Amino acid sequence: MNAAPTPQPGIMEIELYQGGASKVDGVTDILKLSSNENPYGAPESARIAAAEATQVMHLYPNTDHASLRAAIAEVHDLDPDRIVCGVGSDEIIHLLCQAYVGPGDEVLHTEHGFLMYAISARAAGATPVKVPERDRTVDVDALLAGVTEATRLVFIANPANPTGTLLNGQDVVRLADGLPDGCLLVLDGAYAEFADDFDGGLGLAQHRENVFATRTFSKLYGLGGLRVGWGYGSRAVVDVLNRIRGPFNLSNVALAAAEAAVRDRDFAARCVADNTVQRARLRKGLAGLNLPSDPSAANFVLARFADEAEATSCDAFLKSRGVIVRHPKSYGFPDCLRITVGDAAGVDRLLEGIAAWREQ
Ligand code: PMP
Repeated sequence: MNAAPTPQPGIMEIELYQGGASKVDGVTDILKLSSNENPYGAPESARIAAAEATQVMHLYPNTDHASLRAAIAEVHDLDPDRIVCGVGSDEIIHLLCQAYVGPGDEVLHTEHGFLMYAISARAAGATPVKVPERDRTVDVDALLAGVTEATRLVFIANPANPTGTLLNGQDVVRLADGLPDGCLLVLDGAYAEFADDFDGGLGLAQHRENVFATRTFSKLYGLGGLRVGWGYGSRAVVDVLNRIRGPFNLSNVALAAAEAAVRDRDFAARCVADNTVQRARLRKGLAGLNLPSDPSAANFVLARFADEAEATSCDAFLKSRGVIVRHPKSYGFPDCLRITVGDAAGVDRLLEGIAAWREQ
């Protein structure tokens, strides 16, 4: 038999992304708090729009996403021509790497940063470079010190995953100002809506050529399964990404649901308000169980255990009761569990589970 070709350099160094379980054998009543999904699901408006869009599933979708971009632009007060839509923000990250880096180039990201940055950098043949954090928060000085002549892209998630910490506006500006020409700062705002008075860097991306912001419909808008994300930046960057993305990357159903969801401002406002209340309850409850966490600006909390064995044991105990949380070992936090903020009943059930684990 003839051999298949060898993959491009770097590809076999990619560690397969571990999505985590969504089922537990023998348990029917599952509470999934492992992927930062919206505990209320998708808005009703999006479900209706998605169902209607199935009527045209035999037709190719629009390639320019004009209607969705117009809705996003209206809600966020942006220029629709500077928005690019992708199959989740994962695809936007991927496109940025494909477009701007290759062998010999470096992609900077924080020590515990979102795993896709390194995966997409390697897939493009570039070298991902991890930069240390300070107190589980982005360290701007360390990032600036890590920049070399080969650096083309710098990724930070703000709020960060898996810590939930927020880098303040002045520090983000300092980072953008400190980067050399030809280096793009990507502000990943997957959780931006959950932070108080925060635009996720859209304002910065509006005025600076070297800043690009990404957003997703997977978290606040409850559309993780439909895969819609978007990016905002200069016309030049958006033009580049549009040239290389699949022309029909978003389905009719995904486009319709996302447009309805972004226009549903009441749903978003209710979910953000509820997240703020439940997040505080969750952190307080965890603290009462001797599990400290940093203030979170996102829809999850990173609970710190005494050591890896404790985190592993609690994770397994919760799972046996149908409560699935994330043990972020691959992010470099083996002694922590990342817990999505649920609705009131979800927070109660999680805290009861941890209390029962403590008492066993
Ligand atoms: N950025 C961060 C920081 C994330 O946590 C996630 C989802 N886990 C994403 C981007 C990608 O989200 P999606 O592809 O669903 O838009």
